[in-house]
Parts: sequence; structure tokens; C-alpha cells
Amino acid sequence: MNSTLERVWDELERRRDELSGLVADLVRRPSLLGQEAEAQAYVADYLRGVGLEPDVWDLSPSVLDLPNAGNSGVPFDGRPNVAAVLRGTGGGRSLVLNGHIDVVSPEPVEAWTHDPWGAGIVGNRMYGRGACDMKSGLAINLFLAKVFRDLGIDLKGDLILQSVIEEECTGNGALDASRRYPADAAIVTEPTDGDITQAHVGVIWFRVHITGRAAHAAVAPTGVNAIVKAVPIIQALQDLDRRMNEDRHPAFADLDHPINLNIGVIRGGDWPSSVPGACELHCRLSFYPGQTVEEIRREVEEAIQQAAAGDEWLSEHPPTVSYDGFQSAGSVVPKDAPPVQMLVSWHKKLRGNEPRFLARTGTNDMRYYNFLGIPACCYGPSGGNLHAADEWLDLDSLVPTAKVLAAFICDWCGLAD
Ligand SMILES: [Zn+2]
Repeated sequence: MNSTLERVWDELERRRDELSGLVADLVRRPSLLGQEAEAQAYVADYLRGVGLEPDVWDLSPSVLDLPNAGNSGVPFDGRPNVAAVLRGTGGGRSLVLNGHIDVVSPEPVEAWTHDPWGAGIVGNRMYGRGACDMKSGLAINLFLAKVFRDLGIDLKGDLILQSVIEEECTGNGALDASRRYPADAAIVTEPTDGDITQAHVGVIWFRVHITGRAAHAAVAPTGVNAIVKAVPIIQALQDLDRRMNEDRHPAFADLDHPINLNIGVIRGGDWPSSVPGACELHCRLSFYPGQTVEEIRREVEEAIQQAAAGDEWLSEHPPTVSYDGFQSAGSVVPKDAPPVQMLVSWHKKLRGNEPRFLARTGTNDMRYYNFLGIPACCYGPSGGNLHAADEWLDLDSLVPTAKVLAAFICDWCGLAD
């Protein structure tokens, strides 16, 4: 095994520019929600170039009925998931390398000093939306398959590559891919700066619809201002955030404020001289692994009901709650799970430090594998300004990350004789 690993590592060092070129090719194909087709076609072509037969499939609408699915509101047609299997010779453990193709909006673009779709390089940084989160990790996954093929290295277990949609809004892509390709372990190569994401929160999005009564502002007391009626609701939700942070999940014990309720959007009224008759809050709430979406929805609805009960108008015109986007529980993988331990040991051997176990206050796709009993964590490269202006990838982190993953793959899946 050692001589094979040396060959892979040398090849990765030698082909560093090819790997960063692959990241750039992906960054230059914008893949916002609903616009993933071109980037996914590129991924499928790349896999064909590796000599694999990519599985390119649109999600079925029935995915929306599964537990922990969410609804982005965008139909699935023409924006496929892509996967391919580097078939093992048999007798080894299988592994999923997963990455998401979707990126969040670069807006406001004026805040960028680089082209968000340009993949421009300055020093050891590549700039662009998705350069770090997570076209870097996705490129590493694809590139590793290519390098194994080019070197004629056969694994015993199957290596399954997945490029999925909707990580940033629902997780439906990984939800579907995890069920389609059972495996013995999974690594999501999100940018973790060489640490290991071991736990992450669940997330729901919800809307609160508040009804008032429209009137001319000149006779405002004859109306009911729906924006003003949102105030006690907002306070109740902030109280819920505070209460939820009083409990501490052990994996999150070191964090100050792991649970976050965010009032992300408020829409109400349309004219300064009209009392608004309607107001809507669009919110995001996280919660600890082990709690279910249904439990958290109940908590939200109860908090809103209680606030409404203290207000004469709202008690007679109770706000309603609806759900869209993320509707998924969180997950934890045990630190002593065999693939996690193996990843830690290769990281230490190659990079010389002990990786930290991260508990993330945002969600990621590893959960769907853990829900199925497939131990999964995140491990990936470094960078900054994720979901912000001038997102960048530390190009120097690509090859070291790929080397750890290559060693892990050989060890986990086994090398054919
Ligand atoms: Zn990501």
C-alpha cells in the first residue's frame, strides 16, 4: 500500500494546476438555485472523461414527501443530480464522496472586488462564488477518481462520486442520492479547513402570516397595522431563541449561542399613507440533533399562539404559520466511528496536527447519510468569505486535502491485489 500511496501523492503534487483548473472550470459555470444544469453537464462530461458512466437524474417530486425533505419551490426538471461509481473489484468497503453543485447568490455584486464567476487568482487565493463552498471539494472528489484511473489503481470497494443540488436551501439532492447509493461511509468535502465536522444543527424555515385591517393613514385608528402586530410575534420568537440556548447539546457545549432564530425577511404594506393589512415574516430556526422537525414546528407554533393570546386583535385573528425551504433534523457522527477515526489518523500522519471536531451552527448534507446509518462527516479545504463578497479558496489547501482523502480511500475501500 505504501508504494501505491506514494505514487498517488506524487501525482497529486505534480498535477496541482490541473486540480485548481478544475475548480476554476466549475466556478465559471454559475449554479444558483434553478440554474444548475450547465455545471452538472460539465461534471457528467468530466466523469465520462474519467471513463465512468455518469448517472444523471432529475429528482422525482415524490422526494418532497420524505422525512427531512424541504420545498425550494423550484421544479426538479432539467436540474439533475449526477453520480458515478468507480467500481471496486469486490471484498472492500464502499465510500461516497459527496459535494454540492449549488451556490448562493453573489448579491450584492457591487461589494465584490473580483468577478464572482471569474475564478481570478491572486497569490494563493482563487476568488469566486463557490470557489470555496464547495466547488473546491467537489473538484477534489472528481479529480481523485481521475488520478486513480490514470494510475491504473483498482480499489476493492466501490468509490461513489455524487454532485448534488439544493444543499443551500433544502438538502433534497443529497437526500435522494443517499437513498440511491447505499454505502459503508460517506465524506462530504465541504470546506472545513482540515478539521472534521462531527455535528451540525437541524434547520427549519417558516413564514408567519399576520393579518391586520387596511385603512387610510389619515384615519389610522380605524385600521389595524399588521406590521405593528408583528412586534409581539417577533419578541416571542426571540424568547424562544433564548430558551432553546439554555439547553446545551454536549457536542455544542463550547459554543456561545449555537441555536439561532433569524428573522430573515419581513414583508408588509405597500404605501406610506395606507395602514398595512398584511405582514409576513420569513424566518430560519436551528435546533439540536436529536430533536425532530415536528417537535420544533410545535414549539414555534405554540410561541406564536401564546403571543397572539395576549393581544385582542391577534387572538381573534390568529397568525398562521407555513413552511418552506429547509425542514430537516441535525445529525452527529460518533467520534469513534471507524471512518472518522481512520480520517483522523491519515490527517495526523500527513498534516502533522490533530484535526478538531467541529459542531456547526449551520446545516450541511452529511445528515442524510447519518440518518440511514451510513457514518458521514465533512472534511475539506480552506478559504474564507463563504456566502459573502470576495469568497476565496486557499489554493495551497487543495493538494494536502486531496492527499489525505486519497490515503483514506485506499485504506477504507482497500487496494486490489
Ligand atoms: Zn457548502
